[in-house]
Amino acid sequence: MNAPGTPRRWTPTPLIGGAAAVHAGALASLLAAPATWPWAAGGVIASHLALTAAGLWPRSALLGHNWTTLPEAAGARIAITIDDGPDPDVTPRVLDLLDAHRARATFFCIGERARAYPRIVEAIVARGHAVENHSQRHRHNFSLMGPGAMRREIDAAQTTLGDIAGVAPLFFRAPAGLRNPFLEPVLCALGLHLASWTRRGFDTRTGDASLVARRLLHGFAARDILLVHDGHAAKDREGAPVVLAALDTVLRAAADRGLATVTLREAIVG
Ligand SMILES: [Zn+2]
Repeated sequence: MNAPGTPRRWTPTPLIGGAAAVHAGALASLLAAPATWPWAAGGVIASHLALTAAGLWPRSALLGHNWTTLPEAAGARIAITIDDGPDPDVTPRVLDLLDAHRARATFFCIGERARAYPRIVEAIVARGHAVENHSQRHRHNFSLMGPGAMRREIDAAQTTLGDIAGVAPLFFRAPAGLRNPFLEPVLCALGLHLASWTRRGFDTRTGDASLVARRLLHGFAARDILLVHDGHAAKDREGAPVVLAALDTVLRAAADRGLATVTLREAIVG
């Protein structure tokens, strides 16, 4: 693996290589025998459907390498990843909770929110956690962007977060985990690694912290990467962000099993 943060050469996955071959084959057959056009068109459409399906499946590696668990060297450790912040109400409370458990977490921050609340980003870093790239604006049409727009979104967040945190992100997570085949070449050029998750709590939609915790702990094991949110956090009936109680339960379970927490960037360097 290249040194963290350095650009690397992009090599297409078999799915992307196969889709390219289908396109080339379709063009060749059209030129040689125009009457074969229904077969050529069918092949091209099928390859696009396969690429789209792969992009809509956050944990797939069909479009490029994708961290869904920590590397084996992580041993008896897990990673807590926290998306969509910083949030002026929730993030400081999450930081206090992490301190109480002596836990470390990886915050996938949105560039625009970091620009709005830079002191919170500084606090995340000062308290021993990592800040990574979750795009500049968290656009819901991210997976429909072309390579230029996608690169601008990621590059802008890279600059914003690097300026505020004092250290450049090494990981990228796509908004809602949705991608297209243009993403991996952009990440290679910027020296970023794609990270998704082992399990998520759906804590932006579920107002029941115990249900969120149960989802996160279903099959809980060493090297898990768990996803919760400090931004867009759902609230319980008392108005408390569910991430707080859910994360407390998860960190207690981790301690019971002797699992320590690690940031993704600590795991990449071993
Ligand atoms: Zn998000």
